[in-house]
Amino acid sequence: MSTPDPNSSLTPAARQLNWPLFRQHMLDNVRDGVVFVDPHGKIKVWNRELESITGMTAGKVLEQEFSPAILQLSDTEGSPLSKSECPLTECLQTGVQSNGEYRISGRSGREVKVEITFIPALCAKGLIHGAVLLVHDYTIQLDLQRQLKDLYEFSTLDPLTQVANRSEFERVLEEYVRAHQSTNFVCSLIVCDIDFFKQINDNYNHHIGDQALVAFASLLKKFVRSKDVVARYGGEEFVILCANCDGAAAVQRAEEIRTTLTQTPQPMLDGKCITASFGVSQLTSADSPTDLFVRADTALLNAKEEGRNRVACETGIEDPQAIRAGKGEALSDAGLVWKKSQGTLLLSEEFKTTTPVPLVVSKLRGYIVERNAELLRIEADWVSMQIECVDPNNSGRRGSFIADIEFQVRTVNKIEQTRRNIGKETFIRITLREAKRKWFSTNATDLAPQMLRDIRDFLMISDSDSRLKVEPATSSDVVR
Ligand code: GH3
Ligand code: MG
Ligand code: MG
Repeated sequence: MSTPDPNSSLTPAARQLNWPLFRQHMLDNVRDGVVFVDPHGKIKVWNRELESITGMTAGKVLEQEFSPAILQLSDTEGSPLSKSECPLTECLQTGVQSNGEYRISGRSGREVKVEITFIPALCAKGLIHGAVLLVHDYTIQLDLQRQLKDLYEFSTLDPLTQVANRSEFERVLEEYVRAHQSTNFVCSLIVCDIDFFKQINDNYNHHIGDQALVAFASLLKKFVRSKDVVARYGGEEFVILCANCDGAAAVQRAEEIRTTLTQTPQPMLDGKCITASFGVSQLTSADSPTDLFVRADTALLNAKEEGRNRVACETGIEDPQAIRAGKGEALSDAGLVWKKSQGTLLLSEEFKTTTPVPLVVSKLRGYIVERNAELLRIEADWVSMQIECVDPNNSGRRGSFIADIEFQVRTVNKIEQTRRNIGKETFIRITLREAKRKWFSTNATDLAPQMLRDIRDFLMISDSDSRLKVEPATSSDVVR
């Protein structure tokens, strides 16, 4: 075995130096524990740092044979090493250097994680004169890593539910919006809020309320995939950022969560179930993070107003009708759920206006009188009537229609309230269906647009009011 001459790097002048003094200073000040053993394994040096790590003074161990038991040396799993397993034994026998991670007993019995390098002390002729053990305590490093991890969790996690907190959600949302703009990354947002949560606090107590929040958050976590983020937005309102998920899929996921929640007895509530309402929106290229959130939050408000324990969505969803079709409901572009009309649908339009409902209704009364409409049914938010329409250019062309007029009022979200200084918006849907007449053939399809314009004019819906949806003339057989 060839080894370098230990003196080869020294100049003749350096060889004159007082090396024992240098060595002592180095050993006393080095940041690692150092042990020298002779060829028989007897401890010849045990430096100050090792005294500090182990709490064992040099006086106690010098001249003793090194054994793993002195350090209570064990592997990283905590299994003690026997003498034959101790790398020092092999180092002294073969002259081969090794290095590994171990645990030793530190001062006051605390466990210390160390990295030990076993270095054979070989002379120029390759003879083994002993070995050096360098003992590096990396507990401090681990502590630092742990502290950094704690700090990260502290700044990003909600302490109660252990899902992301609001600021982490806002950071990720911005990231997702940027990704969408540069790569068309699809993403949707679900905002959900536990229904009547205040009653849980009132009927049980705040602590039980907290447990319900934890249970709800755990359920949400079960439904997320690797790139999704569940966050507590505040109080009993949570959000799920669904990566690579379009609005329709997000509605389905929200629906699954909603159903599962209604079927999950909560032990802290004596086995009762809780419900939640959900608002969904899909990110579009024009969206800012606030736009996406406001849409989902508005949808959540609608879900609450429509009676809670339901999912509502806002624009951006490709084919929401498909999701709702099975339920006999029609979902508009504005995310409103309308009843589906019976009979052959000719035309259906949905408008958003700031005209208050009482004014719209008084105008509708005027229309009924003026156009001699026959009222078929009136409910709280819905009027159905039958009307005859004559083509003004050809009195022989007549159409017979059933017109359904539905109203919904929505509270405007806070941002819009400030921006537009309005509190509520009225949504009106006018649906025209053909009324069959036995004694004359009608031209209802041709006359439907004119008929609709007439009703719109009466209701003071101007062209500047948002026209949200125009359905083509298709047939629908869903019974009201
Ligand atoms: P809604 O169906 O309209 O959402 O009704 P709600 O009762 O759930 O909503 P409301 O906003 O009236 O009440 C929410 C309650 O949540 C009020 C507040 O005291 C409680 N809350 C907010 N944060 C916490 C929390 O960390 N722990 C507990 N236990 N309660 C909380
Ligand atoms: Mg609530
Ligand atoms: Mg709330």
